[in-house]
This record gives sequence, structure tokens and C-alpha cells, in this order.
Amino acid sequence: MTQLSKRFGQIHALCPSNLEIAEGEFVVIVGPSGCGKSTLLRLIAGLEEPTGGQVFIDGRDVTDVAPAERDLAMVFQSYALYPHLSVEENIAFPLKVQRLGKVVVGARVAAVAEALALTTLLKRRPAALSGGQRQRVSIARAIVREPRVLLLDEPLSNLDAELRVRMRHEFARLHGRLGATMIYVTHDQLEAMTLANRIVVMSEGRIEQVGAPLELYAAPATLAVARAIGSPGMNLIPAVLDAVDERGVTLRLPGDTTLSAHVRAAADRVGQTVTVGLRPEHLVAHEQGPIGGEVELFERLGPLSFAHLGARGGIGTVVAQLPGDRLVTLGETLRFSMPPRHVHVFDERGQALPR
Ligand code: ATP
Repeated sequence: MTQLSKRFGQIHALCPSNLEIAEGEFVVIVGPSGCGKSTLLRLIAGLEEPTGGQVFIDGRDVTDVAPAERDLAMVFQSYALYPHLSVEENIAFPLKVQRLGKVVVGARVAAVAEALALTTLLKRRPAALSGGQRQRVSIARAIVREPRVLLLDEPLSNLDAELRVRMRHEFARLHGRLGATMIYVTHDQLEAMTLANRIVVMSEGRIEQVGAPLELYAAPATLAVARAIGSPGMNLIPAVLDAVDERGVTLRLPGDTTLSAHVRAAADRVGQTVTVGLRPEHLVAHEQGPIGGEVELFERLGPLSFAHLGARGGIGTVVAQLPGDRLVTLGETLRFSMPPRHVHVFDERGQALPR
């Protein structure tokens, strides 16, 4: 797509944006609520008319082509099934439209029903299904005709945790098997990190950064990307850039805490206000470490834990990851250091300083 944009009255749901998706790629779009993810997907599908710009599929300009003629299938957050048809008939519907033979239709429906654990529900009507089951039927209906492009808008949002994991694996397998291009909108970190070949991070109607999951995790280009990637999120702390030398910069955090970072900055940045980003998993327990505070909240996940340090440490609330077997009592003071290579620094415009 080139310079694609959408305005609803005064709202810029999508500012002019460019994005190229390769055939067979699994692209996941993430970003906070209202940033324009669904709008972008609907523009690609042809369900929304762009204010400006063009959409191309296979090099063909489809900007004015009807949704049904774009050879793509879409799965929505809300799943519209035909209430008077059984699950089996709902799934078979797109194939009937294509006038495929009964045997082919039967085999394909059976295969997707099996993949989505719907085999025992095939004779039921949608009204007799749970929300999660209905969602699986709508996914089955979308993939049964093996479209070249599959658009998915938070397809797993109404499923329970166990089913989400299972469906996530199923999407990964499906992608491998179909080789279809998949464009997938989600709020879920795990889905984005595990499924995507590339992640598109959006914020306020803009594409902030596009890259492989680990690329965005290791080097978020903007504050919006730093907020969107990583769970729990990066600790973001206001600071002043105190000094620049050949190895990097020195930062002064609230409470007169100083920290080094291996980022490059011009000497004229000294004195500027910046935001320091520290991932919870990169903080290293260290008795004399510069970052510390009293534990206000402690979350045990089993293999690891998260300690929330209170603001009285001087630099605001900080979340730190600890090994699962580390015992911590509330009110205990913990201190951490931070390897300079893991310290992220963002300027006042939210742009990351380069490494
Ligand atoms: P969520 O994650 O909450 O679904 P999103 O990132 O998908 O959000 P969009 O649904 O694309 O966001 O909406 C982007 C912006 O455009 C929002 O400010 C929204 O209120 C606005 N918007 C979307 N559709 C319309 C519409 N039909 N009319 C007016 N404004 C709209």
C-alpha cells in the first residue's frame, strides 16, 4: 500500500502510510486501543474507502475493487454466522458459493473442523454454541476456501486462556501449511511475538516501526514501540542527559541516581530531558546497584517473579524480574544494576538514541 490514509471527520484514523507485505508473510499489527489497527485492516479488505492512497495485491491496484473480488478472507472480532445453518453448513458455505463438488466440500470441512476441534459440533446451530466455539466456526469458515490473504482482527479475543494457546499453535501450523499471507491484529504480546514474521507497531494513526519481533524488542525506535513490545512493559523513567563520552552517555535519574548507557549522542544533547527505558528482565540484582526501592507488590509466576518497587526509592515505580525461587517479603528493599548495553534512551520527541 502507498500513502494509504483514512479520516473520519476530524479523526485521522490512518495518516498517510506505506507498507509492503511479502507473499506468504505473517504480519501482526499491534498498538494501543484506537490507534487505527482495525481501520488499516478494513482498508486492505476494501471494507473502508480510503481518504487517500492505494492498495495493491500482487502488483494489481485494488483500491477500487470490491472486497469479494480481492481474494482475501477476513475474521472479525465479532463473528457473524448464519443462524439458520448448522456449523457444518456455515463452514461449507464459502465452498458452495464456489460450486465445488460434494466430496471435496465434505473433505475440506472435515479437515478444518478437525483442526479447530469442531468435529463433534458440526450438526449444531450457532445459537447452541459458546462464544469461543462460534469464534472457531468463523475462523473455520474463513480458512476453508484457502484464501491467499487472510485478515484477522483479534480472532482469539473471546477465547479462554487454554484455547487461546491451542489456537495460537493452530494459526502457526495453518500458516505453515497454507502458505497464505496473514495479516493479524492483536493486543496480545505472546501472539505478536510468537506468530509474526514481522510486527507492525501503530500509534495514533501512524505506523511507528516495522520489523522482526526480536528486532523491535532489542531496538525499539520510538517510545510508542517500547511501550507496545515487552511484557511486563519497559520501565520508563524521566532523566537528564548529563554527559557524553566515546563509550556512550551518562544519565541522571530522579533521586540523583546515575546510569550509563551505550548509546550515541551529540555533545549538544547534554542537559536535555530524555526518557530512560529499562526492561524488567534486564535489571540485575546487586546490593550496591543504583536502582532500588521497597517491594510494594510481588507477583509469582512460577518460573519467574516480578517485584514492583515503590516510588520512595526516588526514581518512581520500577518493575524488576527475579528468578522464581527467590523469596521476597513485602517492604524489603531490593537494589539492581543495569548493564549499559541494555539501557534504552529516548529524546524529548520519543525517538530512540542510536546504539
Ligand atoms: P481497538 O484496538 O480498540 O479495536 P483500533 O486500533 O483497531 O482500536 P480503529 O478501530 O482502527 O482502532 O479506530 C481508529 C480511530 O478511528 C479511533 O479513534 C476510532 O474512534 C475512529 N473510528 C473508527 N471507525 C470509525 C467510524 N466508522 N467513524 C468514526 N470514527 C471511527
